[in-house]
Amino acid sequence: MRLVNLSGRAHLISRQGAIDIAKASGGRFGPDPMDLFPQWPEFRSWAADAPWDGALPYRTADLHAPVPRPRQVFAIGLNYAEHADETGLSAAPQTPSVFTKFASSLTGPAGRITLSGSSVDWEVELVVVMAQTTSGITAADAWDHIGGVTVGQDFSDREVQMRGQPPQFSLGKSFPGFGATGPALVTPDEVDRDAPLRLRCWLNDELVQDGHTGQMILPVDVLIERISAVCTLYPGDLIFTGTPAGVGMGRVPARYIADGDVVRTRIEGIGEMEHVFIAPAAP
Ligand code: ZN
Repeated sequence: MRLVNLSGRAHLISRQGAIDIAKASGGRFGPDPMDLFPQWPEFRSWAADAPWDGALPYRTADLHAPVPRPRQVFAIGLNYAEHADETGLSAAPQTPSVFTKFASSLTGPAGRITLSGSSVDWEVELVVVMAQTTSGITAADAWDHIGGVTVGQDFSDREVQMRGQPPQFSLGKSFPGFGATGPALVTPDEVDRDAPLRLRCWLNDELVQDGHTGQMILPVDVLIERISAVCTLYPGDLIFTGTPAGVGMGRVPARYIADGDVVRTRIEGIGEMEHVFIAPAAP
């Protein structure tokens, strides 16, 4: 199942088009995408027999964040060894570095984002969406609590992130639009968990990141075990699971996003996002 947020209303999509969930279910589910999570098992079984004959075409420009208002957003730093290495921050930490992207940073899979400065960087990431209230679970049970996955971008202002000691990961990664997700929440049954998912990012059509989820130091199930040992996770919560190598700060010289640059972010089998960066308006 692929779930999208079309102009604020939850829809199912397939090759046939999009179905408005509230309309198709006679008001039982939705229309707000956040309304689905408290009834997730019931919604999943209804969606399995959704009436695709009513599907309509849709515009990707109308897609918003599939989970627009999560209660919590977790993010993992340095979860790929080559990326940990290129940042110079730490060599392959076995304890996950956990921070948040504040909810005001969330945006959808397309559109314009204002540059916060001259050191804005890209980070393609797999984002996990929780579907159940989760506390103190083991890695073996973690996937049963996951609603789906989506494509994420953990855009990062390196100057703000690295200002001060210790660094400010959460602030440097929370300017408006810096938490991009979409285009769809893809349920786990559509993903082969044993096959690594290829993650790529392009800056103006130049491939800058090309990794796969098999390179994670701590895989998704272990991340959920570690986080849920401390925090209760709620349905709709997001976890940005870290980025592979190839970010701008790891280059010599460092390279960052400029006015007019286009960032394309893709996870094979999940989807693709495209964002255009613009300079702030003159004061
Ligand atoms: Zn990241």
